[in-house]
Amino acid sequence: MEYDEKRIRLAERLREELNLSDRVYNAIKKVPRHLFVPERYRSEAYADTPLPIGYGQTISAPHMVAIMCELLELKEGEKVLEVGTGCGYHAAVTAELVGSRGMVVSIERIPELAEIAKRNLSSLGYDNVLVVVGDGSLGYSEEAPYDKIYVTASAPDVPKPLIDQLRVGGKMVIPIGESYQTLYIVEKEENRVIKKRWGSVRFVLLYGEHGFRNSEE
Ligand code: SAM
Repeated sequence: MEYDEKRIRLAERLREELNLSDRVYNAIKKVPRHLFVPERYRSEAYADTPLPIGYGQTISAPHMVAIMCELLELKEGEKVLEVGTGCGYHAAVTAELVGSRGMVVSIERIPELAEIAKRNLSSLGYDNVLVVVGDGSLGYSEEAPYDKIYVTASAPDVPKPLIDQLRVGGKMVIPIGESYQTLYIVEKEENRVIKKRWGSVRFVLLYGEHGFRNSEE
């Protein structure tokens, strides 16, 4: 089966299982995930599973990307911060949802992965994504405030800089925990921050100043 056909089948399956909106369904159906994974994993690119992308990291499972996009209720024209670019797949799906009037700022701590992501995104024409190398647990204040923020690695708690960089009325989705992880939806109001539990998840860990300590560093 050709990649395009496999991708359409995956998108249809996710739409049915997760009751996806048309917008998220169309974005998953459009972004060629096989071009974001190392060549030896291409044949598995449309299985609904995380895959290794090198440097001990993974590309998230398509259902997780779709769920996070739905939870964030991404709209055309929004400015979104992604913490944990990996190979750039989730950023591409988000870029489809915010459109050319919107912008995705994506921060990755491993320079080699950031380079791969930049290459993947630019070769597919995603010029509304800015990939930066750095500690995403500190956010990226240069482009703040953000309408939406999502974190693709599990943190010990919600990093304060991310709350500060979210605009009032904005929303964040973030996994929290080490061996047992929970996905949270964080909403910032004028005078308070509301944190709602979504469910159990499994992500690689967020390292950095407001992340876990990396014993190898
Ligand atoms: N967004 C990716 C995708 O498209 O599937 C998945 C990324 S992977 C699950 C999580 C990424 O978070 C890894 O590439 C890892 O290096 C990165 N990461 C971990 N801690 C980080 C930090 N403090 N700042 C930025 N990136 C970080």
